[in-house]
Amino acid sequence: MCANCYGSREQSTGWKRRDLMRAAVGGAALLALPACETTTNPETGRGQFILVSDEQMAQAALQAWAQVRQQTPAWNNRSAQQRLERVGLRVAQGAGRGGQQWEFQLFDSPQKNAFVLPGNKVGFYRGLFEMSERDDWMATVLGHEVGHVTGRHAAERYSREMATQTALQVAGTQISSRAAMAALGLGAQVGLSLPFSREQESEADVLGINYMQAAGYDPRQAIPFWSAMNAGGGSRPPEFLSTHPDPANRIERIRGYINQRGWGPV
Ligand SMILES: [Zn+2]
Repeated sequence: MCANCYGSREQSTGWKRRDLMRAAVGGAALLALPACETTTNPETGRGQFILVSDEQMAQAALQAWAQVRQQTPAWNNRSAQQRLERVGLRVAQGAGRGGQQWEFQLFDSPQKNAFVLPGNKVGFYRGLFEMSERDDWMATVLGHEVGHVTGRHAAERYSREMATQTALQVAGTQISSRAAMAALGLGAQVGLSLPFSREQESEADVLGINYMQAAGYDPRQAIPFWSAMNAGGGSRPPEFLSTHPDPANRIERIRGYINQRGWGPV
């Protein structure tokens, strides 16, 4: 039943997959969570190993969201906020998620960065806003962030982490319920300290292009946007790029996808 939960793309942790899954199932049973589950994501058609519901993730992310908002000053700029919300909601509609509640928050920081937390909470930094001279450019970023949501990337990432940590606990002498709870502890780390995988980043890129196109933005503008992001990085790439695939490859992949969909040439 669980044989396919971990694909070969999973990085080697030194534990055999069979051991890992046995431990994960044991840990999950201990806490009465659903056992190993592979679900097909309707957005991507990709099978995912997911142990938590979107609602659980959203609930857990509230703490992380509150923490970021406490640590980073808000950028109180009414017209900028309106623009962010207008583009963000339009892109969410393009993704078929317009009926859900979204929160878009501007932060007063020069970082060229943005992020999304479970529960549809999107953070957008002033530095990125100021370089997003066209709405199409903002839509490129927001499409990518919405893609992380529909791709269920946080839940997937968290589930893998949980399985690995549970395996490590079981591999020790004994599993205590306290250790298991720590391994399963949702909190501030959700969505922030664990980076998305490259595969997830690439998937978010493709989903984002679909959503911005569906929302009526020009997907070809993703190319100059990412090029500007690269150029603006100097010797050190902007943070938004640092956990992402190699920038040049990334742009070429996005270009290939746009042309393949017939939305080019670009
Ligand atoms: Zn991303």
